[in-house]
Amino acid sequence: MANPLYDRLFGRHAGQDTPFLHLPDGSTLTHAEFLGIAARFAHVLSDAGLSPGDRLAAQVQKSPEALALYAACVQAGIVFLPLNTAYTVDELTYFIENSGAALVICDGASETSLAPVASSLGARLMTLDADGTGSLPERAARMRTAFDTVDCAPDDLAAFLYTSGTTGRSKGAMLTQKNLLSNAETLAEHWRFTPDDVLLHALPIFHTHGLFVATNVTLAGGGSMIFLPKFDQDAVIAALPGATVMMGVPTFYTRLLDDPRFTKELVSHMRLFVSGSAPLLSETHVRFEDRTGHRILERYGMTETNMNTSNPYEGERRAGTVGKPLPGVELKITDPDTGREVQQGEVGQIEVRGPNVFKGYWQMPDKTAAELRADGFFITGDLGVVDEDGYVTIVGRNKDLIISGGYNIYPKEIELILDDQPGVMESAVIGVPHPDFGETVVGVLVPEPGQSPDLDAIQAAAGRSLARFKHPRKLIVLDELPRNTMGKVQKNQLREAYKDLFV
Ligand code: ATP
Ligand code: MG
Repeated sequence: MANPLYDRLFGRHAGQDTPFLHLPDGSTLTHAEFLGIAARFAHVLSDAGLSPGDRLAAQVQKSPEALALYAACVQAGIVFLPLNTAYTVDELTYFIENSGAALVICDGASETSLAPVASSLGARLMTLDADGTGSLPERAARMRTAFDTVDCAPDDLAAFLYTSGTTGRSKGAMLTQKNLLSNAETLAEHWRFTPDDVLLHALPIFHTHGLFVATNVTLAGGGSMIFLPKFDQDAVIAALPGATVMMGVPTFYTRLLDDPRFTKELVSHMRLFVSGSAPLLSETHVRFEDRTGHRILERYGMTETNMNTSNPYEGERRAGTVGKPLPGVELKITDPDTGREVQQGEVGQIEVRGPNVFKGYWQMPDKTAAELRADGFFITGDLGVVDEDGYVTIVGRNKDLIISGGYNIYPKEIELILDDQPGVMESAVIGVPHPDFGETVVGVLVPEPGQSPDLDAIQAAAGRSLARFKHPRKLIVLDELPRNTMGKVQKNQLREAYKDLFV
């Protein structure tokens, strides 16, 4: 027996003094040093009575130790459950209770508020602070830097990752060793990762993007990461000269483009910029290429499946699309009502199947049954269309679809037109309740800096391009769209804010 995920991502670097993490203080942690920390943590976890299959919930700041905690869980066969650092005590209570976590690791600052919650739920609690201190590392200091890796099967659970909660309450996605490993190896090959790569890591590590895509791919490729605590413009600009690859959410790229220091010279040595987690505007793609000569590679995935599609490394990276299904991933577009595949070129729900697709939602059999078909296809909740060359375009989420007077309206179609109008930087189109039509279209606009878009002219332009039932009934101007840490527009907040406009 073995532990495929540990062996192939972590164990392969055992004893190597090759660089793994470049830290803000100028120091570098080697693979061997990192694995030593992880092994010590694994001892603490097993001494605390955790057995393979038990859950460990962690709400900690981003640090090398926080990443080593993930490695420790994999090595000890414990299910790792990272939690958004923004969650409140009430939210954490839900996650700890829902997951049945045996151990909670939190920041020292939340110890007092979380200790009673943990003890009432029968979980132990230890702390890990951003600077790598706390009761977990204190115990770990007495441990050996080698740990006998626990045997695991490919179908054993490696992590519970809670979804971002964009469309409702977060769901715990059960991810197996195979899910994570297959995707890491596929992406590392697809994106040509090698030991020479240095990935600029400014993403959070409680989400699939920063934890699995960025970290696992780097581990599979054998390279290192410039490990920044968060996206800080100055720090990112300062770090870029030492990086070969950057992964980011679209807001990282728009913010960089707004910075005059972000020049072609600064990034001429880079080999790859990857974007995901939220749609990258075509306009950003074009501006990025104009500025830097690089074409951002956009890919598409989610908590439940890791990555599903990617634009090609070599070949055309098509702006506004998320590329083609990754090797080993099947993708089809189906009619939401019948579940049957639609004609090529028609919009429908995106379904995916492959070794990357999760085992189901933790303790939500009904939800699992509703979204994960018996034949293995997962209904992603996203709507999309595939063009004649096989490139997938996402047109929005099923839950954001507007049904007005019996007609289906895809917000993206209207957003593309609004985005094109003079003075408009970006837009979000939502459906709000309407007494006659059931729902009607509202467009929320964000102006370009210093501009005040002419709303009448925009209405007229929308009138020329769109059928009457798709015309926005109202345009609203906001300084910025509500977004979460992953750059996702929170349309439910907009729907809530404007739900009484017509009723
Ligand atoms: P919840 O499932 O709780 O409502 P969520 O779907 O936002 O939250 P995640 O799993 O973090 O949680 O995000 C996955 C979603 O992000 C995808 O289903 C898709 O809607 C969106 N997404 C990811 N990458 C892209 C992309 N490149 N373009 C457009 N949308 C993307
Ligand atoms: Mg989702």
